[in-house]
Amino acid sequence: MTSERPEVFYDRRMRLVENLQNKNVLVVGLARSGLAAAEFLQNKGAHVTINDQLPATALGTAVEYARELGCSVTLGDHPPELFNTADLIVVSPGIPLDLAQLAVARRKGVPIIGELELACRFLRLPIVAIGGTNGKTTTTELVGDMLKNSGQKVFVGGNIGNPLIGIFQEKETFEMAVVEVSSFQLDSMETFHPQVAVLLNISEDHLDRYHSFADYVASKCRLFANQTADDTAIIPDHAPLINTRCTIRGTQLHFSLTSPSAHAHLESGEIVCRIAPGPTRRYDLRRWQLAGHHNQENLLAAVLAATCMGGEPEAIQETIDNFKTLPHRMELIHHWRGIQFFNDSKATNVDSVVRSLESFTSPIILIAGGRDKEGSYAPLTALVRQRAKMLVLMGEARFRLAKALGNLACTVVVDNMDAAVSVALDAAVPGDVVLLSPACSSFDLYNNYEERGDHFRALVHKLAAEKEKTNNHISCPWIASSRDKRKLDAHE
Ligand code: ADP
Repeated sequence: MTSERPEVFYDRRMRLVENLQNKNVLVVGLARSGLAAAEFLQNKGAHVTINDQLPATALGTAVEYARELGCSVTLGDHPPELFNTADLIVVSPGIPLDLAQLAVARRKGVPIIGELELACRFLRLPIVAIGGTNGKTTTTELVGDMLKNSGQKVFVGGNIGNPLIGIFQEKETFEMAVVEVSSFQLDSMETFHPQVAVLLNISEDHLDRYHSFADYVASKCRLFANQTADDTAIIPDHAPLINTRCTIRGTQLHFSLTSPSAHAHLESGEIVCRIAPGPTRRYDLRRWQLAGHHNQENLLAAVLAATCMGGEPEAIQETIDNFKTLPHRMELIHHWRGIQFFNDSKATNVDSVVRSLESFTSPIILIAGGRDKEGSYAPLTALVRQRAKMLVLMGEARFRLAKALGNLACTVVVDNMDAAVSVALDAAVPGDVVLLSPACSSFDLYNNYEERGDHFRALVHKLAAEKEKTNNHISCPWIASSRDKRKLDAHE
């Protein structure tokens, strides 16, 4: 491999661009964004090597696809020589940036960027970026829908599962991009510059990957790092953390459920949106279907972002009237014998579970647990005490969760989803809600949160149908508190 670094030059708008022709580029991480980056790099004439520490058997068809693209593929570990001799390294969001091999390459001066950064160095479109701990996907879809309804040609992608770099493979031409951005993607960006940046909220998450909460907050704030006074930042009206920790140079627009001074707020079942010097617009919420105050906050932010990008009021109202709950996010998956079953598998951190619990007034049987992210479960205590009739705890985090919350409600610790659904079905009576809202990632037992949610859905339907056939008397062996205590103690 050559030790020459990619030639860097600036385009007419003084943006950093790289000449990739014949350069040796290492793509680390063979998942969706790695493959999309590899395809783009190959098309630019680079020699691409893809590296993943997993073996081929764990990566499925991706390996074959990478080879078909003409990439060389190195699997099973991260050989240092690949990193040291590359002209450019493109990392996937799942790769920790403090990986030893990356640190050595960095010291040798090898540029290390993410797929988002690579894409935006070549993209010549206005970008709306949506960041925050929770609500990114919902808000990204909302903004995309509002702008598409307005007749604009919009690429909707990013962390949502449709990498931004994929825009260069599309046949369609686009006028703008609406991009969901995770903190991991922000960590590997340098020049990413959204004209409109939405930061929905910040709460504890990913403390298994960041050294501290302060580092995680700093990462979220990078969304605004390259914005100038000509750009727009959309943030909650009262957000002390964002106000004190993020440097915002653009025009600020605020959203609030309650404050009439915010640029978008709620008033008598309507959204009132006022962005000077434009007129005040009102949007009717009677047909809005998404549950919870958190989704109203997402909607307020989306209305502001879409308005900034020229969204038509009629089109925005059309989205409000027709937008459906996304899968795995407070998704009603079954209604059986007066019991409602909700799949909220995407609730992978504590604050999202807080918001889900707040959304119900019925007694809740909460199924939680998965891979622990090393944050505190304390924000759940008041709501578990008030609203949870039962906790069913599973996965690697089950004992830590039981320690934090097990004395607040009848608690059962189980090994897996099969047992969790079975216990929940036994315990539920008409009027109850059975809610899978894990507060943890899925990687202990599943490949991703979608697989976890699909498994939950399948089990709910299967076990409810079996009960239907046998017409078993519904009993709840776990509700007697002395037995719960013994069960918990047995698991300590
Ligand atoms: P993200 O893409 O940031 O993970 P999603 O829209 O996919 O966000 O929602 C993920 C989880 O967070 C779901 O459980 C959802 O109910 C919850 N959620 C959505 N919006 C918010 C919000 N504004 N605040 C807190 N939780 C939210």
